[in-house]
Amino acid sequence: MSYQEIDKDIWESISERLKREIGQSAFENWLKPLKFIEISDKSAKFRSPTGFIGDWVNRNYGEKIVGAFQSDGFQIDRLEFMSIIQPRSDSKKTHTKVDFIKKTEPKRGLVESDSELPGSPLDKRFTFESFVVGKPNELAHAAARRVAESDSVSFNPLFLYGGVGLGKTHLMHAIAWKVRAQKKQSKILYLSAEQFMYRFVQALRFKDMHGFKQLFRSVDMLMVDDVQFIAGKESTQDEFFHTFNALIDQGKHIVISADRAPGEIDGLEERIKSRLAWGLVVDLHPTDYELRLGILQAKIETHSVYHPEVVISDGILEFLAHRISSNVRVLEGALTRLFAFASLVGKEIDMDMVQECLADILRVSDRKVTIEEIIRKVAEHYNLRMTDLMSARRSRSIARPRQVAMFLSKMLTSKSLPEIGRRFGGRDHTTVIHAVRKIEELKFVDAQLSEEVEILRRMLEA
Ligand code: ADP
Ligand code: MG
Repeated sequence: MSYQEIDKDIWESISERLKREIGQSAFENWLKPLKFIEISDKSAKFRSPTGFIGDWVNRNYGEKIVGAFQSDGFQIDRLEFMSIIQPRSDSKKTHTKVDFIKKTEPKRGLVESDSELPGSPLDKRFTFESFVVGKPNELAHAAARRVAESDSVSFNPLFLYGGVGLGKTHLMHAIAWKVRAQKKQSKILYLSAEQFMYRFVQALRFKDMHGFKQLFRSVDMLMVDDVQFIAGKESTQDEFFHTFNALIDQGKHIVISADRAPGEIDGLEERIKSRLAWGLVVDLHPTDYELRLGILQAKIETHSVYHPEVVISDGILEFLAHRISSNVRVLEGALTRLFAFASLVGKEIDMDMVQECLADILRVSDRKVTIEEIIRKVAEHYNLRMTDLMSARRSRSIARPRQVAMFLSKMLTSKSLPEIGRRFGGRDHTTVIHAVRKIEELKFVDAQLSEEVEILRRMLEA
């Protein structure tokens, strides 16, 4: 093993510990973007995507990080951050020396766990009130509310699935908070599938299967988050299946989440798949522009409570909603960073600040899509040949996909209208304008087309 590798391991274990201390979201925002380089001259050196992040980490977490290294026996007394983009001249540079100042960010991410039950903690911020509803998540939201609010058992189990950061955990916590507020005596056990397995393994090790079974079978509502985790783990699956059946038989509520539909989770036993699909299976679709904008607006209100002096324009919000389409967590992180930065330098958030502060995030979403790729993807999607889209044929089954492709070309590339026209078999730029308008119009009235366009856009931007 080289020194480099040893060093990497050090940071991995230290940052894991820090994650527990400062919370998942602060970790994702600030520590995850850092690349650990080495320890030398009593200093831990990192590469940071922007000067600002290094600066912020140093001010807010410097002491903790240095402490964590020291408690592992490393003789360091400071952190150093190297970045390509330097912080603005008006923010204080604290790169090579430790300059801890008082935390300006309020302590958030309050978590609480049920005092009686050994579940995972619930995040106070994850409530129905703070969940922004839009088209992509309205079904999941409605189902979650129904489960939380109805007196009798409905949709059992409720199976929520969707990609990372789309709000599965948020909705599960919201259900738990709501049920708890309504029925104080109700025993709700929320835990990650990983925790479930951990408890199971502990019970095996300490020969306390009886206690384990009793605990899980005594709850009124069981929620297991990220159940894909137990795929391929046979005995855990088995136990999960028995717990699941026992609870369902007793008419107790079960809520499950996963990153995929039950049928698509490889390594999950067939009988479990089919049992999971018994109740209601709903998915959270990738966010669309409107939802992202709505979420940003809602989050701004929270940030403004802590940073009333910071101003952010609608234009900037629209830019963020447009450009950061990966997941809500990243979107939130971007906003947190911007507010932190703006409150530090005491300025309105402008485009320069956005570019500088979010360089790493924007770079990732900055993938260039080519017209060629668009034509290929659209052709594949509609089962056509690429040459069909460039041909002169006007039958509707070809003309509509062609318009979709032109629309996407206009949206996703910086090519001019005449250039786009040329690439589609030498058409005139007015044809392209017509196509763009047509699709824009249809997106409002034709839900299916609107979804197809959205899916294609997502695939192309991925
Ligand atoms: P998942 O469990 O699906 O990976 P989370 O529930 O952890 O995603 O959501 C990631 C972050 O995004 C959380 O901070 C959550 O509050 C936020 N979030 C996701 N969807 C919404 C929404 N519709 N409204 C408000 N916040 C959301
Ligand atoms: Mg989750």
